[in-house]
Amino acid sequence: MPDDVRNVKYVIDIGPVPSLPVAGSDARFPVGRIYCVGRNYAEHAREMGHDPDREPPFFFMKPANSIVQNGATISYPVKTKDVHHEIEMVVAIGKGGKDIPAEKALEHVWGYGVGLDMTRRDVQGEAKKMGRPWEMGKAFDESAPCTALKPASSIGHPAKGAIWLKVNGQVKQQGDLAQQIWSVPEQIAYLSGMITLQPGDLIFSGTPAGVGPVKAGDKLEGHVDGVGDLTITYK
Ligand code: MN
Repeated sequence: MPDDVRNVKYVIDIGPVPSLPVAGSDARFPVGRIYCVGRNYAEHAREMGHDPDREPPFFFMKPANSIVQNGATISYPVKTKDVHHEIEMVVAIGKGGKDIPAEKALEHVWGYGVGLDMTRRDVQGEAKKMGRPWEMGKAFDESAPCTALKPASSIGHPAKGAIWLKVNGQVKQQGDLAQQIWSVPEQIAYLSGMITLQPGDLIFSGTPAGVGPVKAGDKLEGHVDGVGDLTITYK
């Protein structure tokens, strides 16, 4: 394995490295893998028909190039009639590791952002019914809008504070980070027991209740206290 990927010649053009801006900096955060935790707020687990008390955390993924920059106008996804918004705090991993204990987990976090885990709910529902993977419901083009990241060195590690989403100015999702069933350190501890976390990985840390459909022309505005504000428009 070459040490310096900048000197490697590839047989095809691999295109740009997916990345996010960093608030107050010209440097960008390179996005590696995107892990998303499911049903991490009790009210949302209930609205999806599950008992929040009995389930260990579980994760699914999105490709790095499903990232959408803050402020973008994007197309309504193909092959769906029921795209849902899920507003989430995004955790950016700066230091990799495996079997990271919860007490040490925050040392691995570089910073935080505000993201949307956009979901083709009809496609996901069909997959659930047939016992098939969720990818086509979750891991599609432009399915992961996210703000610029703010470094933990400047904002700390948010464990409480409002998280909300408005559609066309109307509040649709509202919660508090303190309502997460599995805290960020617990998510990192669990996930790093399943896979080796790498610098550049993002974790979408779950959505509060109130998920629902978007349609062409909708403006989505998301917020997490102390972390940022996200605006995405569907054309
Ligand atoms: Mn989600």
